[in-house]
Amino acid sequence: MTKLCVILGDQLSLNTESLQQIDKSQDYVLMAEVKSEATYVKHHKKKVAFVFSAMRHFAQELKENDYRIDYTAYSDSNNKGSLFEQVKAFCEQHPIDEIVIAHAGEYRLQQDIDSWQGKLNIEVTVCRDNRFVAEQSFFDEWANGRKQLRMEYFYREMRRNHNYLMEGKEPAGGKWNYDSQNREKPPKDLDVPEPTKFTPDDITNEVLELVAKEFDDHFGDLNDFHYAVNRTQALKVLDEFIEQRLEHFGQYQDAMIQDEPWMYHSHISFYINVGMLSAQECMDAAEQAYVSGQAPLNSVEGFIRQILGWREYVKGFYWHLMPDYKEKNYLNATRDLPELFWGSDTKMNCLKQCVKETKENAYAHHIQRLMILGNFALLAGLDPEQVNEWYLIVYADAYEWVELPNVSGMILFTDGGLLASKPYAASGSYINKMSNYCQHCEYSVKEKTGHQACPFNYLYWDFLIRHRDTLQKNPRMGMIYRTLEKMDGKKIDHMLDDAASFFERLSKNEEV
Ligand SMILES: Cc1cc2nc3c(=O)[nH]c(=O)nc-3n(C[C@H](O)[C@H](O)[C@H](O)COP(=O)(O)OP(=O)(O)OC[C@H]3O[C@@H](n4cnc5c(N)ncnc54)[C@H](O)[C@@H]3O)c2cc1C
Ligand code: SF4
Repeated sequence: MTKLCVILGDQLSLNTESLQQIDKSQDYVLMAEVKSEATYVKHHKKKVAFVFSAMRHFAQELKENDYRIDYTAYSDSNNKGSLFEQVKAFCEQHPIDEIVIAHAGEYRLQQDIDSWQGKLNIEVTVCRDNRFVAEQSFFDEWANGRKQLRMEYFYREMRRNHNYLMEGKEPAGGKWNYDSQNREKPPKDLDVPEPTKFTPDDITNEVLELVAKEFDDHFGDLNDFHYAVNRTQALKVLDEFIEQRLEHFGQYQDAMIQDEPWMYHSHISFYINVGMLSAQECMDAAEQAYVSGQAPLNSVEGFIRQILGWREYVKGFYWHLMPDYKEKNYLNATRDLPELFWGSDTKMNCLKQCVKETKENAYAHHIQRLMILGNFALLAGLDPEQVNEWYLIVYADAYEWVELPNVSGMILFTDGGLLASKPYAASGSYINKMSNYCQHCEYSVKEKTGHQACPFNYLYWDFLIRHRDTLQKNPRMGMIYRTLEKMDGKKIDHMLDDAASFFERLSKNEEV
């Protein structure tokens, strides 16, 4: 009985469940850099480089651990272009009785894998995806029968069940959530530590050359590639985060500073999403920092909530609601994604900075993704399909299980309130409060109308007016609609005119 274990590009851990199912003295492991996965959307060049380099380093680790590995590089003459064809060709040349593979992260790919057994006439065993703390069945049971799926309640159950930051049956410090302490405006002289960087080794340099040649038409810059590409390096990123950034993570979690793309965030999403780091070890390290007095509770709770709460929740949410979830469009948004998302000129400094940093780093931190880029996509009524594709392309940590709920549910409100209790819509004053972008902008954040006015200001009211019938009934929107009722009619007309003229210029891809 010979088995073939197929390892996907985001399953780069010796603890992957499928590897536990094989006998390394006689079974095989297959990995392949296939075109179908690298190009189903035109992923950022740095994302392709990161995944290929991480795969090659992991294949090396498997060899060092005596696994019999069949690795097909992108330019190898025997590369068949798709995972299925690669597996099929291998099975034609070797007597394989069973294929084992850990459950894919993305629905699209799992659908494909589910068809292999019928097409190959070989048993295919799909094992648990152990990159997550909770089983999918736990989420499904929690979600069944609920009209709204609020992360906060899911998170509390996860804290209790997995015993993170608990004092007996009570949450550490007496509260589940310290978010109110995590919204500080960044001070002028903040000295943000440099992110952990690595010089590319021979393997990475070879991959960078390949990507420059073969993926030239993909979005993004390739220069200054400094990500971790193996577990040792990823652990260093985690260690340095705990030592240098975690203390202030909570305090500046929502803060944005011009030319400071990395802030006090952990930068571990690339690694945790490909299995190089486990969710548990990241949370254990943070909890230990709290216990030893190295980091305050608001930071540690905030960090653990992102992983045990949000990350686990969006994965469960995705698999609970796919494939229908992808089709939702509650606000009937249809506007095409404007060119400025790909880096064309804009006078809106906050957007310009976030797109520029995204292009350079294949990274933007949460508030940039949510309250600048996402907020704009929501207010402008951009087509969910195009917005989802953009987010899937541009970030090196983007996989549909995490990207889709964040984009459709959190920023675009396409599900009408299943994930978020209200749309995350904000005017320029929020951006001005949480960043210094407005100080470097051609627009004036204080002005509400006229050609100098910050577009976020009139687009915000235009959005609320456009969706009054749908959103007014939302209890969390009541106060804002009461403010609108009291507004001067002429001012409203002026804002609507400004918004119409803005949209006209946007649709012609003129500079806005
Ligand atoms: C519109 C939008 C799109 C997003 N797309 C992605 C994506 O494609 N891939 C991705 O990993 N994250 C995505 N996120 C979540 C979040 O922005 C990133 O996880 C985070 O910015 C990664 O940087 P970090 O590792 O420095 O995170 P930190 O701020 O240091 O947070 C620590 C970890 O918590 C987890 N996390 C934090 N927020 C979320 C969240 N909302 N959902 C799931 N996990 C979370 C991540 O694993 C992250 O590494 C998106 C958020 C928004 C608003
Ligand atoms: S003024 Fe408006 S457009 Fe300019 S940076 Fe501030 S919020 Fe962005």
